[in-house]
Amino acid sequence: MHKLAKLDHAHVWHPFTQMRDWLKREPIVITSGKGAVLRDVHGKEYLDANSSIWTNLHGHQHPKINAAIQGQLKKISHSSALGLANEPASLLAAELVKAANSRRFLWKGRKGEKVKGSDGFTGHFSSAPFPPFSLSKVFFSDDGSTALEVALKLAYEFTRRTRGPKTKPRFLSLDGAYHGDTIGAVSLGHIDLLHKAYGGMLFKTDKVMSPYCYRCPFNRARPERADAREYRKCNWECVGLVERKFNAQKKRGNPYAAFVLEPLMQGAAGMIPQPRGWLKQVTDIARAHGSLLIADEVMTGFGRCGVAANVSSRLTSSLKRWPRSHERSHGGLFASHHEGVQPDFLCVAKGLTGGYLPMAATLTTQRVFDAFLGQYDEFKTFFHGHSFTGNQLGASAALASLEILRSKQSVTARCKLEQAIHEELKSLWSLPNVGDVRQVGLIAGIELVKDWRTREPFALRERAGIRVCEAMAKRGVLTRPIGNVIVLMPPYCTTSVQLRKMIGALRDAVAGIFPSSRAARSG
Ligand code: PMP
Repeated sequence: MHKLAKLDHAHVWHPFTQMRDWLKREPIVITSGKGAVLRDVHGKEYLDANSSIWTNLHGHQHPKINAAIQGQLKKISHSSALGLANEPASLLAAELVKAANSRRFLWKGRKGEKVKGSDGFTGHFSSAPFPPFSLSKVFFSDDGSTALEVALKLAYEFTRRTRGPKTKPRFLSLDGAYHGDTIGAVSLGHIDLLHKAYGGMLFKTDKVMSPYCYRCPFNRARPERADAREYRKCNWECVGLVERKFNAQKKRGNPYAAFVLEPLMQGAAGMIPQPRGWLKQVTDIARAHGSLLIADEVMTGFGRCGVAANVSSRLTSSLKRWPRSHERSHGGLFASHHEGVQPDFLCVAKGLTGGYLPMAATLTTQRVFDAFLGQYDEFKTFFHGHSFTGNQLGASAALASLEILRSKQSVTARCKLEQAIHEELKSLWSLPNVGDVRQVGLIAGIELVKDWRTREPFALRERAGIRVCEAMAKRGVLTRPIGNVIVLMPPYCTTSVQLRKMIGALRDAVAGIFPSSRAARSG
């Protein structure tokens, strides 16, 4: 065993890992990376098929991000945000505000327009524009969990200050929600496996059904070889349940303070995609009940959910006119905007720095900010912060990453990669152990089942997802499963050859492990 692996075994305790299993075999020790490729101590190369746990955007060792960090290193690495401002953090806050309020590529239906999708959805979208800079304030922190803690505490205190100090603000989040591992974030979470043990430490929040079309009790459709959202048969009962939840809480005399959700796709819940129109409908309900909206875009932000549909269609028809028509557009960076939703709190982390350094931000409105203003001795101050808040190296990396996201090259590469993922994933339907293949932008979740016709799940102890990922690693492709769901989330720089290798490794791994898939392949 390599000496670094030995040291790891002796001393490192890994996150979300059964260490007894970990200690049974030599771990992969990464020493370098370039683009979508990671290299280990033995010189073996792997494709980073989950973008290093959903953080990396443009690939490893991106020259522009490297240069930005190196340039900042020559000035200063860190000074405190308690009592001091700094150059890259000020610039970054302004850039984030611009990106978070960019109306140019928001979903724009004409007022009262009826939209009918291929999934049978008809809905009314309002095109009411966001007030300029409705998200105008940025609170920096360290990671996804802290970005959510900030939003949670601000929403809590804002509600008490606007509804009265006796109010006990109550939060609603989605079934299967995961918003991080700190206690506030865990309180918002609804994954028993991860959260139940800490029940005694948590505060009570409510949950409402998330639209998991593939396993939805209201979906009357029999299984087909397509993304379950496309052939679902239902009457939007999931939206009705959200409405009931808000009504019931209102009747209790304490309407929800905030509705917390991941827009378009719930990540750690198992890559659960929302059918088109769900987000707009449920957030309209929340708004009608006076609830704040907290969008957790820790995974979905910075283009992960694809280039907004209206951009990509315009892009293909007007590529030559770039950059004038698309300049400084990013192509729709936030998932909420794909359905024209503007939250009161936008939480970002992971991809903020291009996946280079731990940094997060919670964006919010002037209205929330103003509730914390007062005379010094009124102590309305937001008493919260971290030692590394607004760190200069992180902010420099983030500025470089935003610059890359804005480039024509990045927007076109993301459009192409999204299309290529769509095409390549089709080959998985031939495997009977693949039950659902769901893609949102540059994220895909592949749900493994015993038999697609019955949707029967593997028991967790069968470790189906883990076994498939281990077999993929042997084929030079790294990703992590969520239970029985295999996650594919390639960096934006992934080439079509690399993508084919990623999906090919998944296909071969499934066929190698499950006899019925093997038979289907050879037959
Ligand atoms: N929110 C979401 C949606 C996440 O996916 C994660 C992490 N996977 C978090 C919050 C927590 O982020 P972090 O691990 O950076 O604390």
